[in-house]
Amino acid sequence: MALADIGLIGLGVMGSNLALNIAENGYKIAVHNRTASRIEDFVAGAGDLANNISANADLGDFVRSIEAPRKIIIMVKAEKPVDQTIAALKEHMQPNDMIIEAGNANFKNSLSRFEELKNAGFGFLDIGVSGGAEGARFGPSIMVGGAKEHWLQVKEILEAIAAKFKGEPCCAYMGTGGAGNFVKTIHNGIEYADMQMIAEIYGIMRDGMGMNPLACSEIFNSWNEGALDSYLIEVTGQVLANIDQKTGKPLVDLIVDKAGQKGTGRWAAIAAMELGVAATTISEAVAARSISALKGERITAENIYGGSGQGVVEINIKTLEQALLVSKIAAYAQGFAVLAAASKEHGWDLPLGTIARIWRAGCIIRSQFLDQIASAYEKGGAVNLLVAPDFVKIMKNNQQGLRQVVCAGAINALPTPCLSAALAYFDSYKLANGTANLIQGQRDYFGSHGFLMRDRDGEQHGEWPSTFSSGE
Ligand code: NAP
Repeated sequence: MALADIGLIGLGVMGSNLALNIAENGYKIAVHNRTASRIEDFVAGAGDLANNISANADLGDFVRSIEAPRKIIIMVKAEKPVDQTIAALKEHMQPNDMIIEAGNANFKNSLSRFEELKNAGFGFLDIGVSGGAEGARFGPSIMVGGAKEHWLQVKEILEAIAAKFKGEPCCAYMGTGGAGNFVKTIHNGIEYADMQMIAEIYGIMRDGMGMNPLACSEIFNSWNEGALDSYLIEVTGQVLANIDQKTGKPLVDLIVDKAGQKGTGRWAAIAAMELGVAATTISEAVAARSISALKGERITAENIYGGSGQGVVEINIKTLEQALLVSKIAAYAQGFAVLAAASKEHGWDLPLGTIARIWRAGCIIRSQFLDQIASAYEKGGAVNLLVAPDFVKIMKNNQQGLRQVVCAGAINALPTPCLSAALAYFDSYKLANGTANLIQGQRDYFGSHGFLMRDRDGEQHGEWPSTFSSGE
């Protein structure tokens, strides 16, 4: 076979699907995997696409089977395995060859890999790939970070394999090193918040309103026809309707209420904290997964305090839909505020409108709603989605629903951490006269930090009694 157009290392769930996608789009791809047996299995299962695939168990032969300057995708387990793979690859690569790291890396590591490889004479792109196994196989959403000249070398292939929304590829250049992984990280943070808010609404339906999974499923299915139309709502409707074959019971009732997490939600929350941006819906979603893991402790605590109110909530379904819509807008407003701040901090010039556009297909948070976000940013001047005209209308018309749901949750001990965070964010953001004047007074009292005053210029200090010296 002629030399390959591109190479890929790591034939796990994502890598094998991505390789098939590349081969199906007519590119010749060379593949390699640490465990050689996986390579044979992959080629054996590739069917006709095997004609576009060359496989090598030897890393040197694999590199040499790709046309120079080489483009090599790494899709292995995050972090240490990535560094090990890069170190091994460097032994065989030539100057100007390029590594494309496609796993869920911490963007800080991508930044240092970018610098290190640039200094060694190699190219490096960090690409966020969203959409799970199916996305990787049939079209993911792809967010690319690195040098523009390197992006241009792989643009054609990446656009060909990406998801398409009305014919437009869901793949774009985000900015220099680290930008691709960062945008993917915030995508995942928003995904955490979105999923948690849906789960909280399900909790109100199941416990507060005594609805069974099938009834809940029907509601989510109907919402998928309206403003909430999205992949996650669709998935929710299907999960709730699934019946366990062994028992004939709804599967969701048999699944243990402990959620896993691999770290991207936490990285998103940490990034927001480090940038000084409120992303409380994301951090609450991460915290909710952490609390979910404490199953034993939760059972003990419920025995002490009692559980939530059961079947006591009287709220109409439209109100729940409004609550979900409004809180979702708050979560996206927070996520995009983090992106905007990071863009400034790292000099990325992140294209916020384009980001919304490439999330409309292929990725987990795909939805119609992203169209409105794209146009809010592309029209220009959207400081925060909460004040973008299209969203102002939705917030005004629906915010009352969120208030009712959060109240019902609080009164009946039905936890709504993410919905409550969304409401608190909205109320704090739209409050012209907040309470930080008192915080400033406190800070000056014990730390002499100073404050600004409404009626005079310059930093001021208060005259405070000394509580330390009096000993009282
Ligand atoms: P996976 O199915 O567990 O496959 C892991 C791959 O990494 C295998 O090819 C494995 O090789 C290789 N590997 C592990 N340790 C290695 C090492 N020390 N040196 C070289 N290769 C090593 O994982 P996956 O789900 O495809 O995920 C790959 C990356 O994509 C991760 O960063 C993940 O976070 C990200 N991602 C996953 C999804 C998803 O839905 N699964 C979605 C988006 C992004 P062996 O066969 O030799 O073990």
